[in-house]
Amino acid sequence: MACALCTYETNKLVRIHSVRLGSLKWSLNATILLGICLVMLWNRKYQHFDQVVSSVTAKVKGVALMHLPGQGGVVWDVADYSRPSQPPVSGRLCRHDNDCDTSTWSQHSNGIQTGLCVKFDALTRTCEVTAWCPIETKTRPPRPAVLASAENFTVLIKNNIRFPAFNFIRRNILPEMDDAYLRSCQRANDSLCPIFRLGDVVRQAGQNFSQMAVEGGVIGIQIKWDCNLDLLTRRCLPRYSFRRLDENESNKTLYPGFNFRFAKYNMVDGVEERTLYKAFGIRFDILVFGQAGKFSIIQLVVYIGSTLSYYALTTVLMDWLIQTSCYSADVGQNYGEKKVESVEDGKKGVLSVSYVDQDHIRVVKMSLKRRLQDANTVAVETRREDAGHVTMAVSVLQAQVDPRPVLKPDTERQSWCGCGRCTASALPQEELCCRRSEGPCISSSALFERLVLHRPLLEALLLYRDPLSPAPAATSGHSTATLRHCAYQQYVAWRFGVPPAATCPAIPRCCVGRIREEFPSPDGRYSGFTLANATPAITTQD
Ligand code: ZN
Ligand code: ZN
Repeated sequence: MACALCTYETNKLVRIHSVRLGSLKWSLNATILLGICLVMLWNRKYQHFDQVVSSVTAKVKGVALMHLPGQGGVVWDVADYSRPSQPPVSGRLCRHDNDCDTSTWSQHSNGIQTGLCVKFDALTRTCEVTAWCPIETKTRPPRPAVLASAENFTVLIKNNIRFPAFNFIRRNILPEMDDAYLRSCQRANDSLCPIFRLGDVVRQAGQNFSQMAVEGGVIGIQIKWDCNLDLLTRRCLPRYSFRRLDENESNKTLYPGFNFRFAKYNMVDGVEERTLYKAFGIRFDILVFGQAGKFSIIQLVVYIGSTLSYYALTTVLMDWLIQTSCYSADVGQNYGEKKVESVEDGKKGVLSVSYVDQDHIRVVKMSLKRRLQDANTVAVETRREDAGHVTMAVSVLQAQVDPRPVLKPDTERQSWCGCGRCTASALPQEELCCRRSEGPCISSSALFERLVLHRPLLEALLLYRDPLSPAPAATSGHSTATLRHCAYQQYVAWRFGVPPAATCPAIPRCCVGRIREEFPSPDGRYSGFTLANATPAITTQD
């Protein structure tokens, strides 16, 4: 037994010479390679990527005239309508002062509670609060929106980005964009123009500005940077897209739209007054995202390594195909049996059977219940000639030996026998004919006489194997049992050549009968062909 450290095992391959399978393999591999290359180029799998780091400022321009009830026309300019955003308030019902807390504030009240329970109207009492008087009452936004002309306002977005891994800095206002360009650029025909008309932004987000202006809303201006920093294909330009970010169905949402409050203060007769505004507006959120990629040999190697496994798909498909019985039948080859070499346990009684009318040797499983002639074929093997035996046979055939007449008369014909010379046996594993179809028996051929039954040949063979054994002439010669076994071996070497590995060659009933007739046991008893002696060996028959 060789030590495990001193040996190397490798897979054994089966090469199938087939134009169909060969071309199928190459077309599958070519398809997989094409797919891998396309994905690599399309997704730039050969690049190392870094995420964008960015800062954004926006500058709104535009003036609007607004008509407020009771105040007349008011001009709104940038300082009035641009506000930082604020997050988005009734009285608390009570019966006694105990129900009201002191100096607390709740999310739904308008001021700080004083701790007193006061009469609100004829039926209800509420907690008194310290608050601006009067408290805010109106909750419905005005229709149409007061600042509807804001649709024509423009916003200039300034976006500076950086990819730290590549130390690459860029602005959305490109170096070639000068003052004259920024004054005149139109987004309708220039997708890189950083100046946006609010109406256009809302429309491109799929919304209606005058409808949206009533309850307010949030529009996302998305700036996507997808940069390729490789020298030959260098390209790093922003792509703008627009999307509404809040719920746009006001009847389905609890707090629809977007609004915030702000106040203007003034002193009237020494008392501070304020004008509280609840503004319903459109907020623009500028979202910057993106990545930059640059060629990296490590990424390329990692990608190639990860794709190698796809070539196994070819093997899986081809193996499935050659094992499919319909394909095998189509090409007249059973590749599945060639691909898998089955090695059975020697004691299991795997037999090989050779028929005169068939070129191949069949491997069958021995059963004690089933006739060997009808046994299921496990595999079909090509006959491998035993070169030494062929040489011997040819030299025997060149020598002039008179063929002897066939002595054995035709026996009663068995249903499973095709040659008409097989006799019935008590052991089903012995019921094997020399052929599948009907025809002459191999034991009746002249060659059988000269190769298997010819006593001088068998004695010469025995002497060849054991040169020091007493010469047949000097003694009574070899026992008939020895000659009989030698004849069986001759038959096997002739009909099987080298029998398939780990199988035990089975000798047809007609030939066994003919050999026993020539070299009979003195007491007329034979052990027969049993599972015990059906182990892979040459001598199997008594
Ligand atoms: Zn027969
Ligand atoms: Zn026969």
